[in-house]
Amino acid sequence: MHAITRSGWIEVITGSMFSGKTEELLRRLRRAEIAGQEIAAFKPAVDDRYGEATIGSHNGRQWEARVVDAEGEGLWDVRDELNGEQVVAIDEANFFSTELVDVCEALAADGRRVIVSGTDQTFRGEPFEPLPQLMALAEYVDKLQAICTVCGEPASRNQRLIDGDPAHVDDPTIMVGAAESYEARCRNCHTLLTD
Ligand SMILES: [Zn+2]
Repeated sequence: MHAITRSGWIEVITGSMFSGKTEELLRRLRRAEIAGQEIAAFKPAVDDRYGEATIGSHNGRQWEARVVDAEGEGLWDVRDELNGEQVVAIDEANFFSTELVDVCEALAADGRRVIVSGTDQTFRGEPFEPLPQLMALAEYVDKLQAICTVCGEPASRNQRLIDGDPAHVDDPTIMVGAAESYEARCRNCHTLLTD
């Protein structure tokens, strides 16, 4: 990434679950840290996971993060809690309301490098705000692919499973406390129950 002026910018790291988004975010944070840049990392408060204050990937690497409200005015704590940090990281961005778009725009206008990571599709395979808006406004977008659990092709979709069966199309987009699981799947292997 080249900062050719003193202005800030937005980077989006997106793709399905298991595509390595958090690993890529951590890689960028580590490079910034090595360069001696100050970093602030945030993640949303999502009911049952409230209090987990680390950004972690499946390979065990972690980064300390501050937990902020996922919607409403509390989301502006991301900006209010900053001091001189040049780099602001936001993980699990799909759990934030679209207010996150304005927050990220303000951070970039403040001259900060904003790195946002989150999935861009719901379990239905539809655009999952706020990522689509952020992808449009960002200077840099990387859309990562996972590998389809069924056929081995590149996967861009999140397959939600309830007790091993495909979720119903009418299920809520964000389920809290449910016994659901997810697989990365390609367009052909992604399925939904419709009746
Ligand atoms: Zn497939």
